[in-house]
Amino acid sequence: MAGNVTIDPRAWAEAVKKPAIQHVRSLKSGLMLDVRRLIGSFRYQHAILLRQKLKSQMKANESRFSCATCGVPVYLACSTSKRFFFRHRHEDGSCPAITRSSFTEADIRAMQYRGAQESKAHKRVKELLIRSLAADARFLDQQCEKTWRASEGLAGLRRPDVSARIDSLRLAFEVQLSTTFLDVVLSRREFYRSERAALLWIVPNFHPSYRRMTDDDILFGNNSNIFVVDDASVAASEHRGRLMFTCWYRKPRVQGDEIVDDWIEELVEWDDLEINLDQQTVCAFNYIAAETALNQQIRENQLARAAETEQAAIREQEARDQRLREQAFNLVSSYDERDDYIIREQDWLDLNRSLTERECGLNSKQPDYSKLARMVSLIETARNGRPIGFGYGSLAEIAHHLFHQHPDYLFAFGHLLDAFGTKAILDRDDRTGKWKMKVAKERETMRSDPKFKMPEDEELLLAFLSGNRSRSTLANNDSSNTDRKLAA
Ligand SMILES: [Zn+2]
Repeated sequence: MAGNVTIDPRAWAEAVKKPAIQHVRSLKSGLMLDVRRLIGSFRYQHAILLRQKLKSQMKANESRFSCATCGVPVYLACSTSKRFFFRHRHEDGSCPAITRSSFTEADIRAMQYRGAQESKAHKRVKELLIRSLAADARFLDQQCEKTWRASEGLAGLRRPDVSARIDSLRLAFEVQLSTTFLDVVLSRREFYRSERAALLWIVPNFHPSYRRMTDDDILFGNNSNIFVVDDASVAASEHRGRLMFTCWYRKPRVQGDEIVDDWIEELVEWDDLEINLDQQTVCAFNYIAAETALNQQIRENQLARAAETEQAAIREQEARDQRLREQAFNLVSSYDERDDYIIREQDWLDLNRSLTERECGLNSKQPDYSKLARMVSLIETARNGRPIGFGYGSLAEIAHHLFHQHPDYLFAFGHLLDAFGTKAILDRDDRTGKWKMKVAKERETMRSDPKFKMPEDEELLLAFLSGNRSRSTLANNDSSNTDRKLAA
């Protein structure tokens, strides 16, 4: 066989250039699927596993796909160039799609020749494996090509290349050369799974950039670990008195938001291996677990970045809000009656436009500047606990003034005092108790009369200016505790 195409396990799988079967039908959903798109939706490593799964299911008469043209069950096959296509389970000439090729005599002769060559290599690897096992006294009952009969009434028998036992665990070793077909790999895996025995595939050599199809079948079916027995591993086994292998495995790491793999070659001891009889995997490194953890880490990183971006946006918005607030306060505090009214009015209209963009401007086309001035004065008064911007000497006087002149601002004043912690000053200012009496007397009116209710746009603006975006804490919407706030 000339050349070898080796695909990156994480690369997207590709269909052969001209698949004979272009559409398959999912027997689960009944949907017709485009073969190229279906194959291209898997990464190579997963396409290899899918191919194994479909083959196993077909052998158990549980096909998942059929040919969309003739309805015969199909399975996934892989070309020598590691491209995928679907093949009929059987072909009798009734379907125009021809997916099964017959071998020429020359093909068969070439295969037989290769078989003879391989049997020599096969024998040599088996000998190396036996020497490795013999070096470790814990391994008992080592046997070569001994028939393994299915126990517990299960059908079948196998003749593993080498078998052995450690404690109560029975082991089968298969030396893997290029002629092993997928069917054989799958049926052996099934056999030893039902036997509750561990099956280890051994290859004479491995290199990640030169992988045969059978290497990939074993590698990806074994959690991305593959074992080599060669002169070096045998020498290590004999030197340490422990069964050793050269193990190649993939090790994932994060690069940006992607996982990339490093290939690791490591001399491993039997005790370092993790054996999973249900999965029929034996591995030095649990690739799937590591990959799952990294995917989780990538997701968490993405979430953390998104949260950070959101926080930054909030901080930016807060800074913009603060600038807008300062603009409003500066406009009011710097305005002098002697200043040009036209200029001030222009500034105010500009400001209200910015406030409206922030959804807290006054609605009118000619918004009343005095409302802004009143709000700023109320906020400054409440913040400082003394009248600012009002021609009055005490907070109690301001309360009376609002009650008569601007009743719609009265509740807001109470809330502002509360928010800035200056409510006690109003109570102290109310030496005569007049304000307290007024609140008690007018309680019902204040609660029900709409003149005590602030227009919505003004309410929003006041909430924004006071740094409190939650409207209900300022306005007369929450009447249950409003009078408590105005009069203790
Ligand atoms: Zn067909």
